[in-house]
Amino acid sequence: AELDTLDLVVLAAILLGTVAYFTKGKLWGVTKDPYASSLANASGAKAGKTRNIVEKMEEQGKNCIIFYGSQTGTAEDYASRLAKEGKSRFGLETMVADLEEYDFENLDTIPDDKVVFFVLATYGEGEPTDNAVDFYEFITSEDVNFTEGNEPALGNLNYVAFGLGNNTYEHYNSMVRNVDKALQKLGAHRIGDAGEGDDGAGTMEEDFLAWKEPMWKALAERLNLEEREAVYEPVFSIVEREGLTKESPEVYLGEPNKMHLDGTAKGPFNAHNPYIAPITQSYELFSVKDRNCLHMDIDISGTNLNYQTGDHIAVWPTNPGAEVDRFLDILGLTEKRHAVVSVKALEPTAKVPFPTPTTYDAIVRYHMEICAPVSRQFLAQLAAFAPDAESKAEMTKLGAEKEYFHEKISVHHLNIARVLDIVGKGQKWNNIPFSAFIEGITKLQPRYYSISSSSLEHPKKISITAVVESTQLPGRDDPFRGVATNYLLALKQKQNGDPEPCPFGLSYEITGPRNKYDGIHVPVHVRHSNFKLPSDPSKPIICIGPGTGVAPMRGFIRERIQQAKNGENVGKTLLFFGCRKSTEDFMYKDEWEEAKQVLGDNFELITAFSREGPKKVYVQHRLKERAVEINQLLEQKAYFYVCGDAANMAREVNNVLGQIISEQRGIPEAKAEEIVKNMRSSNQYQEDVW
Ligand code: FAD
Repeated sequence: AELDTLDLVVLAAILLGTVAYFTKGKLWGVTKDPYASSLANASGAKAGKTRNIVEKMEEQGKNCIIFYGSQTGTAEDYASRLAKEGKSRFGLETMVADLEEYDFENLDTIPDDKVVFFVLATYGEGEPTDNAVDFYEFITSEDVNFTEGNEPALGNLNYVAFGLGNNTYEHYNSMVRNVDKALQKLGAHRIGDAGEGDDGAGTMEEDFLAWKEPMWKALAERLNLEEREAVYEPVFSIVEREGLTKESPEVYLGEPNKMHLDGTAKGPFNAHNPYIAPITQSYELFSVKDRNCLHMDIDISGTNLNYQTGDHIAVWPTNPGAEVDRFLDILGLTEKRHAVVSVKALEPTAKVPFPTPTTYDAIVRYHMEICAPVSRQFLAQLAAFAPDAESKAEMTKLGAEKEYFHEKISVHHLNIARVLDIVGKGQKWNNIPFSAFIEGITKLQPRYYSISSSSLEHPKKISITAVVESTQLPGRDDPFRGVATNYLLALKQKQNGDPEPCPFGLSYEITGPRNKYDGIHVPVHVRHSNFKLPSDPSKPIICIGPGTGVAPMRGFIRERIQQAKNGENVGKTLLFFGCRKSTEDFMYKDEWEEAKQVLGDNFELITAFSREGPKKVYVQHRLKERAVEINQLLEQKAYFYVCGDAANMAREVNNVLGQIISEQRGIPEAKAEEIVKNMRSSNQYQEDVW
């Protein structure tokens, strides 16, 4: 392979000892192979890397830092997009930064000709994302201390803020709101509005697009920037490695890091380093043909992974082969799919989101969210590379017109390859630099599942209860299918030798890179949650878990069965479960009978079947019917748990609980709502909703 100038620069930089880490926990190693990257250090130790953001800005000649607090990758994505736009439209020297990787005591020394962006997702109950916890605590603390002792402390700081939230949660966008408030209090200057994107209303992307235009205008004014015609500049260089083939041992075929490549994977297993876990058994929970809900048992014995009842397990999916094929085909990459490439950041602060050298096939199959919703801005950007004038005009229109985009793209759930196929009428889009996709498409995200087993009963077995996403949409001949759940379905079908595997399922590469997942394995890690049983088992509990919301409730109830078997005094346990029909999707029906046998009158299942009677009945209606008892239990300090659909059910249940308290205690509704709020803040009311 040839060395181009950039390679030499990169090499020289490394040799000179300038530590250049490009990805989280990943470094460009000083290896014999100048192109190779390694993710050897999956635990994320970052020896020698500066945590001083001011130093970093100076070192890299940056004047615009875009910090992100991200859990599922969207905030990180938006941060990258802003960085790119700032550079191409306004000539800003931008840099994206993970909040976790810096200290903040010297924010007050950032000069006022620079700007700092905060792109902050709110997670769960108004919490910061995992990578933003330290920053959040620092900036919102009462006695925050900075190095210089200026007055006001952040009088020099220019900042821009955008939040990603969900209005179905009580603490809507609380991260951006609280950080903005804290920064204002410290005297910092906000540029533009503090934007808020709403996932609950499904308008995240549009909120983002609408917010950023006036923000750029205000920023250009404040920093005296001149807008120029944006020309696409790739962030990554893709170098074909002629000396390597997909059989070469150093080539990543989807292995998440160096240890996995070398076959020496070991813990700690976490969001950078999954465990390739055996699935011990899997079965169907529904008794209808057209819908699937999977139960899977995952074996974590032989690892130091552990979990507690109520935690989440993350599943690392791979993309369906049919969509991988479609994507490679429309870009004209089918022939080259197994060509080995190295991907390098052309700008030292950008991160290559996967290890290389690798193949196009592996990048698309294991690392890119190619089935996800398409961004309107991305289509506008791709217009420049259209195969003909007509497609170019169409892409520009889709990029510019919100309603048109919605009607043509969103309602049909089209992914990027399908859009390009339709717009270009089947022509190949082989002018698009591959870098544009690495920049414009989110990296493939693990999906979370509420663990449905009990760690007391099975400390080394994790159960998943997942409904398979499959929806027939108008204007499409095949159903829209969720990535991870159909991958799990394919695994289940293979494991059970199902006679008629779904055609979509057939195309998953379920034996994984180099057949490393063979024998029915799935890459996973565990995420600890705050959704927990009371430490005293004699406390009563009320569980509201319709549909797959029953998952953690099954874990709770199995735990209480086990506690009772161990001779503990287990309190009243109420489970409100709802589904369509008792004969179709009544999950774990037999298991509730076992609970009844062990727990006796202390266990009760209350069902709501929405499609059996003349009127739709949901769990919240059943809850209301039990008002007297619910109130009594709450007065005995019962714990109240809600899991499942955040958009409707969880909110309704919250409201009904307020009504119950108001009516039963003869107090005004406002007072009752206050009580429910206090229950939440004291953890007597816990939610696990999505
Ligand atoms: P995806 O491919 O991710 O699609 C999901 C949705 O995104 C689609 O339904 C659609 O609305 C939208 N979408 C995707 N692509 C497009 C497109 N091209 N155009 C338009 N819209 C699109 N689920 C369970 O079944 N059981 C659980 O116990 C459970 N627990 C969870 C716990 C937590 C903390 C969280 C956050 C989620 C939980 N989920 C659970 C949901 C789960 O994580 C997944 O979101 C779900 O299984 C769907 O994943 P998927 O990859 O199959 O679908």
